[in-house]
Amino acid sequence: MADCLFCKILAGEIPSTRVYEDERTVAIRDVNPQAPTHLLVIPRAHGATLSEHIAQHGEDGELAHLVRVSAQLGVQYGGERGYRVVINEGGDGGQTVYHLHLHVLAGRPFTWPPG
Ligand code: 5GP
Ligand code: ZN
Repeated sequence: MADCLFCKILAGEIPSTRVYEDERTVAIRDVNPQAPTHLLVIPRAHGATLSEHIAQHGEDGELAHLVRVSAQLGVQYGGERGYRVVINEGGDGGQTVYHLHLHVLAGRPFTWPPG
């Protein structure tokens, strides 16, 4: 989609560090990491938010794949210490880039509830 930062990253128009990719998904390093490992798991299909992605591309298989890839990377980078997967939606959710992405964070402890 025009003027979407993550669509441009997926198209290679804006550089990123890719750590994983397959036919449906690309995972990159976050440019402003909040943990020693901070990855973004991004579906190639554009949907602005989780809800919009479900509405537009909504078979469960697509979402299951995103969660599966996030878990695979979480285990790869977090190991036995664990990891966190986060999806932000909308203003109250803290979303800043409007193309669905899952944050995978590892390498330090996280508190619950989040701030
Ligand atoms: P959100 O707040 O929408 O859940 O997360 C957006 C994330 O994208 C933020 O963690 C932010 O650091 C990251 N980000 C913003 N611009 C870029 C960029 O140009 N490249 C990369 N790799 N990450 C970005
Ligand atoms: Zn996009």
